[in-house]
Amino acid sequence: MTDHHRMPGATHLECTGTGEEVESEQLIGLSAAGKPLFARYDLDAIRAGFQMADVACRRADLWRYAEVLPVRDPAMRVALGEGWTPLLESSRTADRLGVARVWIKDEGQNPTGSFKARGLGLAVSRALELGAEALALPSAGNAGSAAAAYGAAAGLPVHVVVPTDTPAPILEEMQALGAHVQLLDGLISDCGKVVKQGVEEHGWWDLSTLKEPYRVEGKKTMGYELVEQLGGRLPDAIIYPTGGGTGLIGMWKAFDEMEALGWIGSKRPKMFTVQAAGCAPMVRAWEQGEEHAEMWQGAETYASGLRVPGAVGDFLILRALRESGGGAAAVPDHLMAEWVAKLGADTGIFAAPEGGATAAAVPMLMEKGLISPEDEVVLFNTGSGLKYVGMTPID
Ligand SMILES: *Cc1c(COP(=O)(O)O)cnc(C)c1O
Repeated sequence: MTDHHRMPGATHLECTGTGEEVESEQLIGLSAAGKPLFARYDLDAIRAGFQMADVACRRADLWRYAEVLPVRDPAMRVALGEGWTPLLESSRTADRLGVARVWIKDEGQNPTGSFKARGLGLAVSRALELGAEALALPSAGNAGSAAAAYGAAAGLPVHVVVPTDTPAPILEEMQALGAHVQLLDGLISDCGKVVKQGVEEHGWWDLSTLKEPYRVEGKKTMGYELVEQLGGRLPDAIIYPTGGGTGLIGMWKAFDEMEALGWIGSKRPKMFTVQAAGCAPMVRAWEQGEEHAEMWQGAETYASGLRVPGAVGDFLILRALRESGGGAAAVPDHLMAEWVAKLGADTGIFAAPEGGATAAAVPMLMEKGLISPEDEVVLFNTGSGLKYVGMTPID
């Protein structure tokens, strides 16, 4: 064992495709096999001082889970108040949907108004710790503003490439946060190509979803929070609006970690992916029983977080859906908007369209028999509706 194995942080990285072990103390993107890398921890060693009771009185942000986070030096934590968002129960929403109980995890209360703060907070902290000098990413919107915020807080320049039809409030936000914003007439996948060029030509550090190992580590904290906030248990079903799938993949990873830590047993919630009818590559792959998803052509939806035609972690998403006994549903934009209004009136939460989509999906999933009236359901409202003001449903 080298010295850093006794400091906080990961012991190593592991290829999600081949299981190959990789040194964690280097700036690294995908594995040699071109798959995402997962950070692994010495959970047996951590276990004794890291039970739910140990973290109960800690700071009310995601750094309460420092033992299972990759940042070694506390001085490298770039923190703006990310995580520990409220889990709000709504009996009116439960009645409306015809299920036993509903909670909404209100991720709109994160810095920059979306749960992208969790992932980018971790990724930027780790990039800073490992010596990156400039950051870049393609974004459908919210990832760009979160990267801009954490880059600014870290004192690192951020280059964001976004589609021209990104919501105006998000564009203005990124500019106000000092990011270099490049608009592109295309999709997030096209923006990714421009970032790749900048990486090669200018040495930018690429923060694309799952193309570096640490955004998923930030997003996994949603799983830890759910268990803590529900008093040591999990719901029957988790409904997650899926673009690149980082949060779903991260929570699935967190549940395994928590089982190894003795926080939970072997029971898992049913995991559900919700996408837009105009861009549903994971839903299509799920319905066809595929292990990988083909690129979606002509992606269209006003839920910019779901306008993701292809995902490098597709096999991890589909595996979690399958292993959990969950499933997938595609929701047209007008239904998202309808449910944004219903959720708002029922709960006092102004949800993003992606959040509306999770509620809209429940009746569809019940019709298919995948969710039952006895189920306790957590809906992820992944962002604030304020970031989409002026955007209208496409179908
Ligand atoms: C990015 C985003 C999503 C999709 O998240 P993934 O973890 O990439 O699947 C959902 N909702 C909002 C508001 C987003 O910004």
